[in-house]
Amino acid sequence: MKDSDPLAFTHDFPPVRTVLRPGAALTATPEEARRLGLRRLLVLCGARGADTARAVADALGEHCAGVHAEARMHVPVEVADRAVEAVRAAGADGCVAVGGGSAIGLGKAVALRTGLPLIAVPSTYSGSEMTSVWGLTQHGAKRTGRDPVVQPRSVVYDPELTLSLPVPLSLTSGVNAIAHAVEALYAPDASPLTKLTAEEGVRVMARALPEVAADPGSLPARSRALHGAWLCGLSLGAATMGLHHKLCHVLGGSYGLPHAETHTLVLPHVLAYNAPAAPEAAAAIARALNTDDAPRALWELPRAPGVPRSLAELGLAEADLARAADQVTGEVSANPRTVTAEGVLGILRGAYEGAAPVP
Ligand code: NAD
Repeated sequence: MKDSDPLAFTHDFPPVRTVLRPGAALTATPEEARRLGLRRLLVLCGARGADTARAVADALGEHCAGVHAEARMHVPVEVADRAVEAVRAAGADGCVAVGGGSAIGLGKAVALRTGLPLIAVPSTYSGSEMTSVWGLTQHGAKRTGRDPVVQPRSVVYDPELTLSLPVPLSLTSGVNAIAHAVEALYAPDASPLTKLTAEEGVRVMARALPEVAADPGSLPARSRALHGAWLCGLSLGAATMGLHHKLCHVLGGSYGLPHAETHTLVLPHVLAYNAPAAPEAAAAIARALNTDDAPRALWELPRAPGVPRSLAELGLAEADLARAADQVTGEVSANPRTVTAEGVLGILRGAYEGAAPVP
């Protein structure tokens, strides 16, 4: 089969064991550590997740080397430096990251520097746990890369951990997950299996989010959302992301906008822009959302009290739109539609104003 054959593909899902069940944070994490032969684990988390992380540390018992509660959004280099020092001082042979993408990102930064294995116990739907992508922020710029050494060896999904995730953050984190699947569906390197996980990820997450919003204490709804996060995260790990991820990366790294909320506001506009150039992917997304207007459905899905409606509300200045568009245009390596400065500016303006996406 030649590379130019439209049916040719290369497929590479990460070698990661995944457990999903209520209570797994406390019961499965020690089991996973034992399976991996780890005997001295440092537990990493952010300040707000410290109580849960301590419960995981207690469950690890004598195999816990301490709790390091310094994770911060986008992994500032100095935060990573301190975590590496803590790992060395504790003589740890591995880490457990308990929390959202920020805690898992810190675990990945430690793995990148030390080569130590990581177990991830996610408490949001960011999907970072299913990828070998790391990120580090220095002097206001975020660098990212791929390295198999940062891929968590085991992922422990516990819906009980997500019961405390407020509804607005549940919705935006869920749409963050859907964004991975959307871009995987039109990625140039998406394999047939990646397309299946991505379409199913959109379907499962889009069904789970209204259930979570209606009853945030429902364990089945929370399990379904984590199931969706897993599928979407797998898609992210296996495919090259396009314009949407680049745009959100710049808005987060250079303008300090919050991750999940930014993804939520930008995604409908990017999909409206890209859909005409990616008809197969657009059809799959519409099928998964059970709609004939996928950008509009993604715009409506997270609309609830407490969810920001516009990038203006998140604090982006109107004067930054053109600058952000400049930073993105010419920097996107994989996107179904040619990325023009005018196109990016139109997307940014729509998200800035919180307008409905225009096909
Ligand atoms: P986050 O981890 O920063 O969490 C957001 C907020 O929610 C924090 O204040 C946190 O304390 C709180 N929180 C988390 N779980 C909670 C829970 N169960 N209950 C109550 N509060 C809870 O945000 P995120 O959106 O999960 O992750 C964003 C970060 O992850 C960004 O830095 C992003 O770049 C990175 N990320 C990386 C990848 C990758 O593949 N490398 C993928 C997705 C996201």
